[in-house]
Amino acid sequence: MSLQERLKSAIRDIPDFPKPGILFKDITPVLKDMHLCNDLVNAMHRPFAHRKVDCVAGIESRGFLFGVMLAKKFNVPFVPIRKHGKLPYKTISYKYNLEYGSAIIEAHVDAIKPGDHVLIHDDLLATGGTAAAAAELVKMLDGHVAGFAFVVNLEFLNGKEPLKKHSDHIISLIDY
Ligand code: AMP
Repeated sequence: MSLQERLKSAIRDIPDFPKPGILFKDITPVLKDMHLCNDLVNAMHRPFAHRKVDCVAGIESRGFLFGVMLAKKFNVPFVPIRKHGKLPYKTISYKYNLEYGSAIIEAHVDAIKPGDHVLIHDDLLATGGTAAAAAELVKMLDGHVAGFAFVVNLEFLNGKEPLKKHSDHIISLIDY
């Protein structure tokens, strides 16, 4: 089986979670299979192996799971991007619009050094709003966006569009 087939058979659909009308892609079964996790991390690493990546930024909270593994693979620091009020040290914030209302994400002020090339990772790309907000945080800290790496892309939501102004290097392992 290809990696794509193995991932598709591991990831399960949860209808109406966390609210009616959403088909939630549950990646937690992937975590039970470390061989699959390794292959997944290698597949996200490969397209960036010859590019400059100084750190990997993972978006709360499922972006931490493979994000740390990916940082380990590159042998670079991991940067947690968190929801408002979760990070204990001095932070910078970026507010962005959701379908209904808005959200704020934050990073520690010393998480990224000026000039760092930052690979942004999350488990899933939907509308792209969260990943684009993470790119804004990187830029506020004078970092460069090295690219974006996702496990799943919900292609019908065109989430890659708002990311293109930050980087042309956008990869997803499986598309629905
Ligand atoms: P967006 O900002 O619209 O690209 O949403 C991406 C964030 O929401 C990611 O952190 C995902 O983990 C989460 N998310 C959005 N839609 C889904 C879904 N259908 N299944 C699982 N996670 C989702």
